[in-house]
Amino acid sequence: MRQRRNMPAFADAVAVTLPGGYRDAAGEWQRRAWLRPWRPADAEELAPFERTFPARQASALLGLCLSLDGSHAAGSEVARALSVGDREALLLQLRSLTVGNKLSTVIRCPSCAEKMDLDLALTDLLLPPYDAAQPTYVHEIVAGDVRHEVRFRLPNGADQEAVAERAQHDLAGAVQALVERCVESIDGEHAPQISAPVVAGLADVMAGLDPQAELMLSAECPACQAAFETLLDATSVVVRELEEARRQLYRDVHLLASHYHWSEEQILALSDRKRQLYLELIHAEWHHSRRQAS
Ligand SMILES: [Zn+2]
Repeated sequence: MRQRRNMPAFADAVAVTLPGGYRDAAGEWQRRAWLRPWRPADAEELAPFERTFPARQASALLGLCLSLDGSHAAGSEVARALSVGDREALLLQLRSLTVGNKLSTVIRCPSCAEKMDLDLALTDLLLPPYDAAQPTYVHEIVAGDVRHEVRFRLPNGADQEAVAERAQHDLAGAVQALVERCVESIDGEHAPQISAPVVAGLADVMAGLDPQAELMLSAECPACQAAFETLLDATSVVVRELEEARRQLYRDVHLLASHYHWSEEQILALSDRKRQLYLELIHAEWHHSRRQAS
């Protein structure tokens, strides 16, 4: 059996452009990154995150498949430090690279509740790089009749992870906590109390500065012709598909191990194509023996 362990980890990676970007160790603003498709062997490393929040699973996955230098995995800490929009853009491209560019999803019309299919070309959903991306921003937020000068950064993966648990039962509280994590100062004061109107104003400003983070799709209902917008959350889509791919992989390993008596390690080391070929052979053999039996 051919071992793939010696293949350079990023030999099959493609170069991608981050819509936002990050400041590197030398203080330069960078937008270039590389992605390799996820592999069956990644399932083992991702297994400890299986039942955690999607944002955490996304950090673990990007940590393996993302490279900032084109040859080494960036690691989950780097993935956590990227803005939410950069992570969403990376996940869309990672899914396109690994599974295919077409995503079929079912949505429900908010007016008449009719279900409809939505077919998307993932790379069409990528926004062009933002003009004025920076590590921190200063914006004036008007709350009532008071103007506040707010210095903040954009929410990143670590922020998403930090508020994921709270977001399940208290969305407003989670938004408040997320904004508080991102504010450096208000009117020059550090760690200030942030009022609800400032939180709301800042959340809007942040969404405008990182539009890839919340991708709204326009749809029209074929039944009642209502036009509406629906949110595409790449993190959830990719994490769901990854879980399904992992379950399928376990089924495949089980079948190949019981048929050929190979170890799990040997089976995971096979290329996807070879593994599929062996599975097809097993199915053909079953089909053949069933025909002979009848
Ligand atoms: Zn409708």
